[in-house]
Amino acid sequence: MDDLYTLLETAKSNRDYRNILEQLRWPSGFQCPHCAEGHGYKIESRDLYECSSCGIQTSATAGTFLHGVKNLKTWVEAILSFINERGTSTVAAAELFNLDYTSTWFMMQKIRLVLGGLVEESEETVLIPCSILKTVLYKASTGDMHGNCLDDSVELEPAGMDSAGRLAAYILSTFLGVSRKYSQLYAYEYALRKAVSSESRMIEPLSVLSKFVRPGSLYREGMRKYCAPPVILV
Ligand SMILES: [Zn+2]
Repeated sequence: MDDLYTLLETAKSNRDYRNILEQLRWPSGFQCPHCAEGHGYKIESRDLYECSSCGIQTSATAGTFLHGVKNLKTWVEAILSFINERGTSTVAAAELFNLDYTSTWFMMQKIRLVLGGLVEESEETVLIPCSILKTVLYKASTGDMHGNCLDDSVELEPAGMDSAGRLAAYILSTFLGVSRKYSQLYAYEYALRKAVSSESRMIEPLSVLSKFVRPGSLYREGMRKYCAPPVILV
């Protein structure tokens, strides 16, 4: 893994990043995703592997969240930007990565969804009903951060209330608000960045990247259909 750290620090081109992802996907050498055979050779000119047994041509990103991605450098930079303490809006990210708004939005949402796995694995999570988040967001956006955000009929533990307030503050300061439909994805991002700033959890660049070379491609249509559950995890 030490070598991979060095590679990551010095990577500059899409090919450098592909090399890193190949090693993350196949740490003990190429393994055919089709027939599971361990022998193959690389077609350098096309950045593909051909299986010696079944002849299929494949790549380290085939069938993963990075399936079909050409600009791996941008993606890796965007993924790693999620383990900085501060968040970035889609507009700012689009400018940073020199992409159009729509592509950037889909990229950031996919990254949030995948990295949500890190939050779900953690034991330090809090569940917040979306309805509460909506109320707190509304109160926060009208400047009533310290007011009574809830009806008496709603019961939520103080920790949950605190988390909802902080999540709302984060969402408003970074994104100026988010839709109910995608609120879980932004909550994941918030929880992840909070963990980074408290240095309490396993946020390590290579293990983060390895999440993206696991099977499970995700297309734009899937992202459009995504809908946050009624109770979100922070
Ligand atoms: Zn094969």
